[in-house]
Amino acid sequence: MKALSVLGSTGSIGTQTLELVEEFPDRFRVVALTAGNNLDLLIEQIQRHAPEAVALADAERLPELRDRLTSLDSVTRPARLPELLGGPEGLEAAAAWPSADLVVTGIVGCAGLLPTLAAIRAGKDLALANKETLIAAGPVVLPELKRSGSRLLPADSEHSALFQCLQGTPWADTARLSTGVPTPGLRRIQLTASGGAFRDWPAADLAKATVADATSHPNWSMGRKITVDSATLMNKGLEVIEAHYLFGLDYDHIEIVIHPQSIIHSMVELADSSVLAQLGWPDMKLPLLYCLSWPERLDTPWRRLDLTAVGQLTFRAPDREKYPCMALAYAAGRAGGTMPAVLNAANEQAVALFLEEAIPFLAIPELIERVCDRHRADHHGEPSLDDVLAVDAWARQATVEAAALQALPA
Ligand code: NAD
Ligand code: MG
Repeated sequence: MKALSVLGSTGSIGTQTLELVEEFPDRFRVVALTAGNNLDLLIEQIQRHAPEAVALADAERLPELRDRLTSLDSVTRPARLPELLGGPEGLEAAAAWPSADLVVTGIVGCAGLLPTLAAIRAGKDLALANKETLIAAGPVVLPELKRSGSRLLPADSEHSALFQCLQGTPWADTARLSTGVPTPGLRRIQLTASGGAFRDWPAADLAKATVADATSHPNWSMGRKITVDSATLMNKGLEVIEAHYLFGLDYDHIEIVIHPQSIIHSMVELADSSVLAQLGWPDMKLPLLYCLSWPERLDTPWRRLDLTAVGQLTFRAPDREKYPCMALAYAAGRAGGTMPAVLNAANEQAVALFLEEAIPFLAIPELIERVCDRHRADHHGEPSLDDVLAVDAWARQATVEAAALQALPA
């Protein structure tokens, strides 16, 4: 029985993780949950899973949560009331909860960084969904993993595919994961990308893309931020940096290929030129389950892949002019240091502004580029946690300022 702490339990990753717990009740149980501010869903989850601890990011709403839990009648009240925690310390305590064996990081954005570090310092294994944390703070997270011996199991479907393919090689030991040391025998990574909401739009139409357009993904159902990242292809750019930190390959050997059917979830090319791929329906439950069950595989009754129903698998090179975010991500990854943290924070802020309808879709890459240009390598060597937190705050502010300037009439 594996005990889970689920960070971001009310989001897309969080709810799918809890569905897996319900599907495999004799394998997994929940000991801690954290959420942003969706109290209705959080209370339902507490009733179903009776965790030992619950942390709410918005500490001001803790009294409301406590009142609502204690006023449940004896039938709907959970068997025991959880310990209620709030604010950043509360999230960190839930992430490091003593009885947890595995921490699922389903918080969106760099807000997941400190809880993730708390989990690592407590020696917990992690199912990493919250890629922004590794991207912004790879040089901080990797040495912490080494010190604590925690294992970082990739939940992102592409990185899970790469990880699964590498299980079939002589270098399958996870010690090779997230050490920054190149995985031996791994020559090239090909990350597949669905192409996002605008893959069939002419580039000229992107100027009028609305929030509704950008938040409807053709293949995957996910949170709003990552869905916009898929529409700009920044998600794939972020995944290139994520792959660099997870598998230690340099940026010249991590490639992106558009694969509209989202059946091949990514591929590794090995030293002898053999290419291994992992296939499945586009459904996050499988990569999440693999994190939970690794190194075992559990028997599922899920719909089995039928390639004759899929018909064809097609591939094409990504359009770099239509999607400038990819090149921005490669450049930030190559620059290293704090540049990926700046890229990530500028992207989070620009996407938030776009979702508020404060900027047009095409302003997202423009703002990110401007902020990365302003940052330009004023930090060399390996950044500390304080460096990362400082540039994260700076880049958000710089993005808001750049957006305000852009909005001024010419
Ligand atoms: P989501 O928006 O659906 O859920 C985010 C969760 O984080 C919610 O529980 C929310 O309450 C919580 N949260 C938001 N801001 C917070 C803050 N400041 N402090 C604490 N908690 C906060 O997002 P999602 O789609 O589930 O994505 C979560 C992470 O997983 C992201 O990093 C995303 O890139 C990654 N991911 C998601 C998918 C997917 O299918 N959804 C696939 C691959 C990777
Ligand atoms: Mg992905």
